[in-house]
Amino acid sequence: MIRLEKLRKEYDDLVAVDDIDVAIPEGEIYGLIGPNGAGKTTTIRMACGLLEPTGGKVSIAGVDVHQQPERAQENVGYLSDFFSVYEDLKVWEYLDYFAHAYRMPASDIPARIDEVIQQVGLEVKRDVLIKGLSRGMKQRLGIARAVIHRPKVLLLDEPASGLDPKARYDLRTLLQSLRDQGTTVLISSHILTELEGFCTSIGLMETGRMVRSGRIDEISSAESQLRVVRLSWLGDSAAAIETRLHANPKVSGLMAKEREAVFRFGGSEDELASLLKELVQGGVRMVSFGEVKQTVEDLYLKLSKNEVM
Ligand code: ATP
Repeated sequence: MIRLEKLRKEYDDLVAVDDIDVAIPEGEIYGLIGPNGAGKTTTIRMACGLLEPTGGKVSIAGVDVHQQPERAQENVGYLSDFFSVYEDLKVWEYLDYFAHAYRMPASDIPARIDEVIQQVGLEVKRDVLIKGLSRGMKQRLGIARAVIHRPKVLLLDEPASGLDPKARYDLRTLLQSLRDQGTTVLISSHILTELEGFCTSIGLMETGRMVRSGRIDEISSAESQLRVVRLSWLGDSAAAIETRLHANPKVSGLMAKEREAVFRFGGSEDELASLLKELVQGGVRMVSFGEVKQTVEDLYLKLSKNEVM
């Protein structure tokens, strides 16, 4: 749905974006991660057609953003990191203005405004002046504006910055609901925890380069051939469990204390299930047993060289 090919941006002798290749399939929530100055904003601005690349190309839903800008815009919703709103308009008037700017059929506009207002949870603020909205509400209004014309792709540059935890939670829920309706979302952040738990794929940028891009589960398993497993139990001492685990050749790096342990496992899921069965049948009163999934933060720390330009 979003395709960046050898995308490049130079500012004099600074390479802000260095020949990056990214393919984001339909229905993904793609988190673009990287420290300040990595090139995220430059990439997003090129992706939505606002900034001319020095080289390479961008296509959204198969349409070249720079060759066919008007057609491409039908499929793109964009919200910049510092967007301005017309403070003296009412919420519905603001959306009405953008709906007309996107040349939506006039007869569809009132119903569509009510629909997006409901989607972003601003029903009670429909007739309120924008200057009376909180920062989180303005952010949601910005997203409503970006999706008013039902784009297939939503590009959001640091949308969570400055939001309190509740507003961030609401933003996640909103993005997940947009994704459930088929929108492909690209969201940037330099704060990993903002993207944790709801992005389905990530791209890690540093000094203009794409260090790694893909689905989180695929990157995780490529980075770690070994699963990390954590377990806890009742009764038996750690020493007794350690003896049983050490007997399995796929277990390594075991650390056990009192009634819990963590170890690396070099076998398949099937073999892990057999190990659990063996322990339980051997009399271990298991309370929990499971693979520790790598977080976006774990991956970032593994992959990042911490380079900043
Ligand atoms: P942040 O998280 O701070 O927003 P970013 O990852 O979005 O950072 P960019 O804003 O894309 O980074 O900037 C990438 C690099 O390009 C930086 O070194 C920046 O200084 C440089 N840059 C960006 N815009 C321009 C410009 N108009 N002229 C010259 N250099 C620029």
